[in-house]
Amino acid sequence: SVRDPESLLVGLNPQQREAVLHAGGPLLIVAGAGSGKTRVLTHRIAYLLATRRARAGEILAITFTNKAAAEMRERVEVLVGPPARSMWVSTFHSACVRILRKEHKTLGLRSSFSIYDSADSLKLMTMVARELDLDPKKYPPKVLISKISALKDELVDPETFARGAGTEAEGAGEFDSVLAQAYARYQARLQQAHALDFDDLIMTTVHLLQAFPAVAEHYRRRFRHVLVDEYQDTNHAQYMLVRELAGIAARPGGVPDGGGADSAAQFPPGELTVVGDADQSIYAFRGATIRNIVEFEADYPNARTILLEQNYRSTQNILSAANAVISRNTGRKRKRLWTDSGAGPAIVGYVADNEHEEARFVAEEIDRLGDSDGVRPGDVAVFYRANAQSRALEEVLIRVGLPYKVVGGTRFYERREVKDAVAYLRAIANPDDDVNLRRILNVPKRGLGDRSEAMVQAFAERERMSFGAALERVEEVPGLATRAITGLRAFATMMSDLRDLAATGAGPAEVLGSVLDRTGYLAELRASDDPQDAARVENLSELHAVATEFEASEPEGDLADFLERVSLVADSDQIPSADDGDGTPKVDQGVVTLMTLHTAKGLEFPVVFLTGLEDGTFPHIRSLADDAQLAEERRLAYVGLTRARERLYVSRAAVRTSWGMPNEFPASRFLDDLPEELVDWRRRESSMAVLRAGAGYGSGYGGSAPKKRPVPPSPDGPKFGSATPRPAGDVPSLAIGDKVTHDSYGLGTVVAVEGAGPNCVAKIDFGSDGTKRLLLRYSPVTKL
Ligand code: ATP
Ligand code: MG
Repeated sequence: SVRDPESLLVGLNPQQREAVLHAGGPLLIVAGAGSGKTRVLTHRIAYLLATRRARAGEILAITFTNKAAAEMRERVEVLVGPPARSMWVSTFHSACVRILRKEHKTLGLRSSFSIYDSADSLKLMTMVARELDLDPKKYPPKVLISKISALKDELVDPETFARGAGTEAEGAGEFDSVLAQAYARYQARLQQAHALDFDDLIMTTVHLLQAFPAVAEHYRRRFRHVLVDEYQDTNHAQYMLVRELAGIAARPGGVPDGGGADSAAQFPPGELTVVGDADQSIYAFRGATIRNIVEFEADYPNARTILLEQNYRSTQNILSAANAVISRNTGRKRKRLWTDSGAGPAIVGYVADNEHEEARFVAEEIDRLGDSDGVRPGDVAVFYRANAQSRALEEVLIRVGLPYKVVGGTRFYERREVKDAVAYLRAIANPDDDVNLRRILNVPKRGLGDRSEAMVQAFAERERMSFGAALERVEEVPGLATRAITGLRAFATMMSDLRDLAATGAGPAEVLGSVLDRTGYLAELRASDDPQDAARVENLSELHAVATEFEASEPEGDLADFLERVSLVADSDQIPSADDGDGTPKVDQGVVTLMTLHTAKGLEFPVVFLTGLEDGTFPHIRSLADDAQLAEERRLAYVGLTRARERLYVSRAAVRTSWGMPNEFPASRFLDDLPEELVDWRRRESSMAVLRAGAGYGSGYGGSAPKKRPVPPSPDGPKFGSATPRPAGDVPSLAIGDKVTHDSYGLGTVVAVEGAGPNCVAKIDFGSDGTKRLLLRYSPVTKL
C-alpha cells in the first residue's frame, strides 16, 4: 500500500521539495533550527520508496539517538506503510554493531563478541595499568582510557600512535610513550576477550571497510542511499564511516578511499544526504567537528547545497530571541530564518532567590497554564545545563504531584554516585546492613576482591553473624591473604570511625562530607578528566545540599532520620509516569519532561522552561575563560531556545547552593542578549538584590523590601504548599477511607497510608485527576 508519491510533496515549501526530489551527487541541507531538516529526511526516504527509486533494504539512515531512529522509522511507516520496516534506521553505533556481527569472520572475531561499556573499559584499563606497573597517581586509568577514546575518535590505532609518539615534541614524550604502551596492551586484551569497546565499534568498522575492498563494495552496493541527520555532531571516525559506506571519493586529489575507488567505478556511487546546522554543534568535547559541515562542499566538489529558511516550529518572538543569542558568535554564516506563525506570547522571564524558588515558579506556572490554556504536562519540557540541577525540580514536582520523567539521565536518587554515597550512610547508620556494606566494600577500588568478600561471607554464615560483624573479626577469617586482611581491617576501622562521628552528634551533612573525603571517593572523581565524572561531583554536591537543608529544617534530626527522608523521596520517585505503562490506560495527560540541554537536540515542545540561566551555571563555569567553549555554550543556548513552539520561559536563581555553600551567581550573559522588548519579566530582581541596592530600587518593591521578601504570589494565589515543610504537628493524621481536599486536585479519598508522623505518605484517589502518592508534610492536603 505504497502511497502516491505526489502526495508526499504536498505541504513542502519549494526548497524542501527540491531536497526531497534531488537525485545524483551528494546533497547537503544546512538550515537553522526548526526549518524541517528532519522532516525533509523522512519525506525523502518515503519518496524514494514510493517512487520505487529505492527498496527499503537499500536505505541507511543515521540519527543521533535510538529514540530519534525509532521515531523516524515510525514516521516513514505512516507515510508509506510496512515496507519501511526493513530499512536500516539507527545510530552510528548500532549500524556498526550490525555490520560487525555480520562480518566478524573477516576480523577474526567471535560473532558473539562482547561490547564493553565505559565501566568495563575502565576495569580493563585498571588491570592493564597494574600489569604495566604504572603509578596510578601519574597515570590514572581514567585519564588513559579517555585519551584512548579520543584517539579512536580520530581513527588512530595503537601502531599508528606508537609511531607518532616517538617523534612528538620533547616533554610530552614520556606520557605519550606510556600511553602508547597502555593503548597497545589494552587493545590486545580486548582482542583476547573477544570484546570491543564503544569507540572500537566505529573505528573497527572503518578499518574493516578500508582493509577489505570486497566487504566495502558489498555495503556500497547494498546501501544506495545514506542519509545522516544532525551531521554537525559527527566526529572524524563517523565522518570517515559515512564516506566509506557511501563510496564517494572525497577531497579532489586526495587519497582514493581504501581501494574502493576501482570497484566504485563499476557501478554508480550511492547517494549521500546529510542535514545539519553548524549553529547547533554541541559535541565538540566528544570530538565532533564543525569542520565536517563547514567544509562539506570542499570535500565533495559535486555536492549540491540547499538552504531552508522558513521555520515552522516557533513563534517570531522565540525565533528572534534565539537569533539574538546565536548572532553573537563570530565566524558563522548568517542565516535568515523567518516564520509566518506570528509574534506569539512574550517570553516570560523570572529571577528567583534560589533554586527551590525557581523550581516552585516552574511548577506553579505549569499548573497555571493547565488551568488557563489547557496545557497538559506532556506539552512541557524543563531544561537545565547539568544533571544535578534536576534534583530541586524533581522535589517540587514530587511534592505537588505533577508527573514527570527525567529523559536521557537517571533520576537523581538512582544515580550511581548518589546510591553509593547513600549506601555508605546506611552502612554507618546500621552496621548490619549487609547489602549496603557489600555494595561499598570495594567502592572506590581498594583492592578488596570478590574472593576476599566471599571468604568473609562464608565466615559470617558459619558464625551466624552479619557480614558487618564478621568484618570486625577479619583476623579470624580463614584463608585470607595478608594483604586482604590489611585492606579489610582498614575498611572496618574507617567505618567504625565514621560511626563514632555520627554517634557523637555530627549532622548528616558532616558525616557525608567525611565519607566522601576519607574514602577518597571525591578525590578520585575530581582527578578524572572524564566529563561524566565532573557531573558526578556535581551530583554529590547536590546530595550534600540535601543533607544541609535537612539539618536546617530539622535541627534535632540524626543520620537515621535523614536516611528515612531520603528513602521517602526516592520512593516517591517511583510514581508511575504516564508512559511507564502500568497497564491501565489513563486519560493521557502526559508527563513533564526534564532533561539536559544536550539531550534536547532535535526535539520540540509547545512549552519550554530554560532554567539556571546564570553565568557559572549556564554558560558552565568551566567555559567562562575559554572562547571556543563559550561559543559552544552559546550554541547550546540556541538549541535550548529553539526547542519551544509557543511559550518560552527563561529563569535564573540569584543564589544556588553547592557543597552546602550558597553561591551568588550573576545573570547569564545569554539573558543579557535577549532583546528587552521580547521579555515579560515577572520578577526582575531577587529580594537579595533589592536589599543590597537599598530602599527604592526596583519599582516593584515600593521601597520597603522587608528582609527575606517572599515571592510575589501568582495572580490566582499560590497553588502549592510553601517550599518549607509544615511543622511536624500540622501533618494531618489520615486513615484509609478518609476524605480530604487538596489545593490543586480537589476532593479525594485516602486509599493507602505509609509511615507515620512527619514522614507519612498517603496514596489519595482524586478521581479524574488520578491517584497520587503525596508526602503529607509537603502537600496542601486538608482532612474533611
Ligand atoms: P532541528 O534543527 O531542531 O533538528 P529541523 O530542522 O530538523 O529542526 P523539523 O523537526 O524537521 O526541523 O521540523 C520542525 C517542525 O516544523 C516540525 O514540527 C515539522 O513537522 C514542522 N514542519 C517542517 N516543515 C514543514 C512544512 N513544510 N509544513 C508544515 N510543518 C512543517
Ligand atoms: Mg532535526
